[in-house]
Amino acid sequence: MFGSPTTAVQRRPAYLPHIQAEPRRPPRSLEDNWAAGPPFRLVLPRDKRDRLAACVAHLSRRQCCPVAGCMAESLPVLLVEAEQEGMLCPRHQLVLLDGSAVEGEPMLATAVW
Ligand SMILES: [Zn+2]
Repeated sequence: MFGSPTTAVQRRPAYLPHIQAEPRRPPRSLEDNWAAGPPFRLVLPRDKRDRLAACVAHLSRRQCCPVAGCMAESLPVLLVEAEQEGMLCPRHQLVLLDGSAVEGEPMLATAVW
C-alpha cells in the first residue's frame, strides 16, 4: 500500500493560488506546515546535492520582494532544477531576483534555520 490517495488540491504547491480561494484573502503564511514530514525522500545526484547545499547556505531568512514597488516580506528559495535563487512573495508568488515571474511549478528548496 502506498498510503491514502491525495486530491488535486493537496498536490498543488503551497505557493500557487488555491482553487477555492476567496477573492480577498489575508496574506498566507510562507511557513512549511507539513509538520510530520513528507512520506518520501528526494534523491539527488551527489554533485547537485552539494551545489544546492552551498547555494542554500547563502540564503537569508527574509527579504523584501524584488518586484519594483512591492515591499512584501518574502522567503528566499532555491529553484532545484535550475539551481537559481528566487523569492516567494505573498502577492507575486514565485519570482526571480530580478523580479520576473517564474512559470510552472518548479521544485523549491529553502534553508533550514
Ligand atoms: Zn511582491
